[in-house]
Amino acid sequence: MWDLCVLGAGPAGYAAAMRAHDLGKRVVIIEQDRVGGAGIHSGALSSKTMWHLSNDYACACATDRGYRAIGGFEVSYAMLIESVRAAVKERRDLLDRQLERLAKPNDTGGVVNIVRGVGRFVSPNALEVKHKDGTVEKIEATNFVIATGSKPRCPDGIPVDGELVVTSDHIESFPHFPDSMVIVGAGVIGCEYATVFANFGKTKINIIDRQPRILPFEDEDVAEEVAENFEQAGVTIHRSSKLESLRIVDGKVEYVITNAGGKSETIRVERALVSVGRVPNTRGLGLEQIGVEIDKNNGLVVTNTRTTVPHIWAAGDATMDIALVNVAELEGRYAVEAMFGLSPRPIQYEALSAIMFLRPEVASVGLNETQAKTQKIPYRVGVVGNRLVNRNIAMRATHGFVKLLAAHDSSKILGLRVVGPQASSTIQGIAFLIHMGATLEDIDHCVHPHPAIPEAVQEAARMLLGRSVMKADVWGPEGLLRCGEG
Ligand SMILES: Cc1cc2nc3c(=O)[nH]c(=O)nc-3n(C[C@H](O)[C@H](O)[C@H](O)COP(=O)(O)OP(=O)(O)OC[C@H]3O[C@@H](n4cnc5c(N)ncnc54)[C@H](O)[C@@H]3O)c2cc1C
Repeated sequence: MWDLCVLGAGPAGYAAAMRAHDLGKRVVIIEQDRVGGAGIHSGALSSKTMWHLSNDYACACATDRGYRAIGGFEVSYAMLIESVRAAVKERRDLLDRQLERLAKPNDTGGVVNIVRGVGRFVSPNALEVKHKDGTVEKIEATNFVIATGSKPRCPDGIPVDGELVVTSDHIESFPHFPDSMVIVGAGVIGCEYATVFANFGKTKINIIDRQPRILPFEDEDVAEEVAENFEQAGVTIHRSSKLESLRIVDGKVEYVITNAGGKSETIRVERALVSVGRVPNTRGLGLEQIGVEIDKNNGLVVTNTRTTVPHIWAAGDATMDIALVNVAELEGRYAVEAMFGLSPRPIQYEALSAIMFLRPEVASVGLNETQAKTQKIPYRVGVVGNRLVNRNIAMRATHGFVKLLAAHDSSKILGLRVVGPQASSTIQGIAFLIHMGATLEDIDHCVHPHPAIPEAVQEAARMLLGRSVMKADVWGPEGLLRCGEG
């Protein structure tokens, strides 16, 4: 009998197993495919590798920085995917090697074994694992973590064939850069792949968006900055458009959209990427028989990572609250600490940070204006345009801005959005400050490195305190500094 059985070796399951190992527990992980899940494969790491390479390529091709690639660069989809596979393999080898080492017990008795195959519950304390060769093994444990993740949603009526009409699971199998591609869905994943293909400049990209604007969960100024940059790069956004049909005709993809005015348009492209959300992998796990409840969207019902069966916990995308690697890992670790009696501090979902790998990069932590308004939290907001920031000027990358939200009455920091290069690194300090309950004064008094992007955040804090170096009276009319409230 194992102390813990983890179903799924993606970020949630792997992190849960490692935390249980720290506590000297005997752990078995069941994985049907490759260790790392969507955190690595056809997911976070692979898409970010594509994004970085596409950015490098776009930068190298830029004609506004004094150097020129005479005759251009050689690039092919095959070369790109070779690099992506190398990156994915590098990370997966690390995870696999660690598992090999931890297969033998350590001084505290901690051991982690991996069993390859598809797992499903046959009783509240036992799973059956079906191996590739058809043999079946029974695994019994005292506690379980369900970390089976999610898969792309394929809406009815869209013929996803994995070749011409693909999801993020198939995109790496293109034989070449398509001449043209429609992206159905303007959420984060769709917009990230639009960025990658736009950066390489070899594919005409169309994005279909039901809403008047992309990234509907983000503030309008953030979404508009990204949309403007997309349009400058030749991406067409079919705004407020309904997809009437999408079919494969003569080896091409033909789709019909109707815009807000009721006008229909038929367009042919080489490929389609369907990116309309993800669904939890909870079917076929035998959950009904053992009383683990799932909601109407098939997500596991949890209270602080505990399912409706007390010794069975769940983490990551299978619960489908927030689909991010960092959240999956946090939940996996939290579940293990809670099940073995460590009384962990609750996960602070309000200080979560996320990155969108767009054009330019967008990173967020805490509240944005839309969320503050919905939650009826009075706030003040300071916006500083990147054109005023020395480091952006030096990088020749002055598109974008930082936007800092503070409480209306107390100057407590509520949230930050950074739109521009190094956005992901810039939010980290503020994530920590929000976690600590810090104020605008704390940002003002902290000595920042120079020249660095976080100085824009400091300038936003100072502006809200009425003591910025650059003055809103002068730069406000040009849209480079803005103070407001809501
Ligand atoms: C294209 C893309 C880009 C992304 N980019 C980012 C990003 O930049 N940043 C970020 O934070 N997040 C990103 N994400 C989201 C992130 O990848 C997921 O939130 C994260 O991987 C969820 O981790 P998980 O462990 O819950 O599930 P998964 O990573 O899905 O892992 C689940 C594992 O369980 C296994 N499994 C499922 N069912 C069974 C079974 N019955 N038996 C045995 N094994 C089973 C699967 O094979 C899989 O390995 C991205 C996702 C995609 C698709």
